[in-house]
Amino acid sequence: MKRFQLMSFHVLRLTRKTIMAVKFIDEIDVAGKKVFVRVDFNVPLDENCTITNDNRIKATIPTLKYILDNGGAIIAASHLGRPKGKPVPEMSLKPVATRLAELLGVEVQFADDCISDEAAVKKAALKPGQVLLLENLRFYAQETKNDTDFAAKLGAGADVFISDAFAVSHRAHASVEAITHVVPICAAGFLMQKEIQSFENAMTNPERPLVAVVGGAKVSGKLEVLENLLSKVDGVIIGGGMMFTFLKAQGKEVGKSLVEEDLIGTARSVLKKAADKGVQLLLPTDCVIAKEFKGGIPTKTVSVDDIPVGWMGLDIGPETVAAFGKVISEAKTIVWNGPMGVFEMQEYSKGTFAVADQIAASSALSVVGGGDSVSALKLSGNQGKVTFVSTAGGAFMEMMEGKTLPGIAALDR
Ligand code: AMP
Repeated sequence: MKRFQLMSFHVLRLTRKTIMAVKFIDEIDVAGKKVFVRVDFNVPLDENCTITNDNRIKATIPTLKYILDNGGAIIAASHLGRPKGKPVPEMSLKPVATRLAELLGVEVQFADDCISDEAAVKKAALKPGQVLLLENLRFYAQETKNDTDFAAKLGAGADVFISDAFAVSHRAHASVEAITHVVPICAAGFLMQKEIQSFENAMTNPERPLVAVVGGAKVSGKLEVLENLLSKVDGVIIGGGMMFTFLKAQGKEVGKSLVEEDLIGTARSVLKKAADKGVQLLLPTDCVIAKEFKGGIPTKTVSVDDIPVGWMGLDIGPETVAAFGKVISEAKTIVWNGPMGVFEMQEYSKGTFAVADQIAASSALSVVGGGDSVSALKLSGNQGKVTFVSTAGGAFMEMMEGKTLPGIAALDR
């Protein structure tokens, strides 16, 4: 963690103010209390229901340890997969209970149904230092419907509600939103706190210049992000498939590249808005092209003015990498979401990996979010070299869009 650790206490205090009245777990006395913790244990399982990656469990350990060390008892709850409102044995959280016990070094009890009488009895019997994990919340359709009665049963017996599941905080679900109206004391856990504060540090009170690097397949998926960014950033770097709709808006011919014809007008207005606001908007000047959307075929690197008919752009070129690198190296704050090319194929991965290298090498406060950017960061060997990597995809995007997330707003009281 580069700069984040060096940031002054004052900046963090200031940040707290900007997050309205959200309380954090270290402000809550959990001694003798039963603490309902909404975690994100949505881990990948193989066909034998063995956990193949336990990062999401590990990420909640500081919050859970804090509660146990300070004399609280834990009622942990999560979803796993998409069981669509009915019990699906392959999506049981039972394997998570075993792994969680190993990581915490204490026994983890398990309730086979999150709102059953058995769960209520186990909750009532919990003593300080004990942990109970409830079965998959989404075995009930009421969870995703933000059902009040369901939330009342979930929260029954809990003195404190802690949300440590940033990845679902863009969803008004019963264990995220409705439960905050049931349990008397609500706060954010350490993981949630890091997510909120990192984003706030980058977007609300950033050291400038603040540069956003935006890529990915389509403009349509990022339009709200771009519009929100224009009022906050000093520079926007655009790469990925979405760049071609912008290039087309500038009157260029882009061959078979991905273009959203219906958004060319919108792209033009984004370009105009950026110019009006004095935001530096950088588009690629060269790109790697091929005749088909696949690897193992001939490629060429050409100027974006010379994309031949029948070819498509699948990555940014070296001249673009250098130009983006200059802006990235001068930035004091960087937010990155979306790859610069089809990085899943080796031939078209260089641009994304080069940008990942540049962000990792920068001394700026850097925040990276979205599944593809995070995996590009890993694949390029830059894991651990940025200030903060968000654990969330959808929630991170909605924060970038400037939206109020229901799961955070619910804690603001
Ligand atoms: P998104 O989910 O919108 O962030 O898009 C991520 C996807 O965009 C990745 O799977 C990339 O392969 C894809 N992508 C990046 N650049 C291009 C491009 N030039 N043409 C088509 N797809 C692209």
